[in-house]
Amino acid sequence: MARVDLDGNVIKPMTICMIGAGGFIGSHLCEKLMSETLHTVLAVDVYSDKIKHLLEPDSLPWAGRIQFHRLNIKNDSRLEGLIKCSDLTINLAAICTPADYNTRPLDTIYSNFIDALPVVKYCSENNKRLIHFSTCEVYGKTIGSFLPKDSPLRQDPAYYILKEDTSPCIFGSVEKQRWSYACAKQLIERLIYAEGAENGLEFTIVRPFNWIGPRMDFIPGIDGPSEGVPRVLACFSNNLLRREPLKLVDGGESQRTFIYIKDAIEAVLLMIENPARASGHIFNVGNPNNEVTVRQLAEMMTQVYSKVSGEDAIETPTIDVSSKEFYGEGYDDSDKRIPDMTIINKQLGWNPKTSLWDLLESTLTYQHRTYAEAIKQAIAKPSAN
Ligand code: NAD
Ligand code: UDP
Repeated sequence: MARVDLDGNVIKPMTICMIGAGGFIGSHLCEKLMSETLHTVLAVDVYSDKIKHLLEPDSLPWAGRIQFHRLNIKNDSRLEGLIKCSDLTINLAAICTPADYNTRPLDTIYSNFIDALPVVKYCSENNKRLIHFSTCEVYGKTIGSFLPKDSPLRQDPAYYILKEDTSPCIFGSVEKQRWSYACAKQLIERLIYAEGAENGLEFTIVRPFNWIGPRMDFIPGIDGPSEGVPRVLACFSNNLLRREPLKLVDGGESQRTFIYIKDAIEAVLLMIENPARASGHIFNVGNPNNEVTVRQLAEMMTQVYSKVSGEDAIETPTIDVSSKEFYGEGYDDSDKRIPDMTIINKQLGWNPKTSLWDLLESTLTYQHRTYAEAIKQAIAKPSAN
């Protein structure tokens, strides 16, 4: 049966130039587009490991609908041609791990702002639609975080719920280089918005709120550098796999809402296939029902991992570590991130489904199956250095 959009119109197959297709979100989006639609993907990235299963062998049912283009968008003249021959461009390319924001602020700003500029320009000049991936981090800190700890106003949603069209963007000082990422993302959002207003660029901006699931980042020393610091899901997975305590930065008091990658990808597919409803909008994509402190996340992951691995938790499952020790000078944090869902709900009728426990269970089952054996071998045979 032909696929129809939310207004009952038949969806025509389109060609999508997906930049950053080899990353965590890109790999899930490619999987969804190949298995459930007839769209063609021109997958652009410097890496292809996470989508290798979609590219080979040639006998796959979607062979011919996905092509990998290994290129660095910083310096490759083929980019414009790929955008020109597509109906839609999705830009996911970024440096987006907090450990880099204060230690590699120049790379972070170049990657998230300067390198995204040609993508916006080519879309605008060639009248092509753009879905750009921003971040919930553009909200920075909540207004409530500046109130006294015991203020009753801290309980008032007006002081912490993050709304696309009314919440301010509140960052720390320039010395707190943590905010280099948020600031670069905010400026590219403003530029895209201005291209829409002044030059008619058809755009959608996505603000992901802690999407997590299989293939996120890397496990240090296994499929990434041993000294590398990925995002929290991979950090805690690594600790659990190695039977080490999970490290709670500054007490693990920050709060996050986590959403299962597969729920979030449903929202992106709706944006792709409903341009009239998605264009000109900025969308929060998160799960407001899955809020925990980082400490609670650590406790839940420890419990879930015990269940899926069949191993008892270690005696001291968590330890406290200062942010300076863990991330270095210039780190700062978002205190709380609850997305308002009004706009995405109204435009696309989308809602997240998966509970935190369930998404951790499927994700940690994947982590255990994928990495437990490799970790055992790495521990038994430490590399000579
Ligand atoms: P990721 O690091 O897994 O994917 C990014 C991909 O972009 C990588 O495969 C990388 O190789 C590629 N890339 C980077 N620079 C490139 C370049 N110059 N040329 C070609 N390819 C390049 O990250 P992700 O989690 O999939 O995030 C995708 C987007 O979503 C990013 O823009 C990120 O800022 C945003 N985002 C994600 C989350 C989340 O919860 N995962 C949260 C907020 C924002
Ligand atoms: N964090 C932690 N221990 C770790 C890794 C991260 O306590 O091993 C904390 C980090 O300080 C932040 C939260 O977990 O408060 C989420 O971190 P993540 O790297 O996923 O990115 P963020 O949500 O800040 O963008």
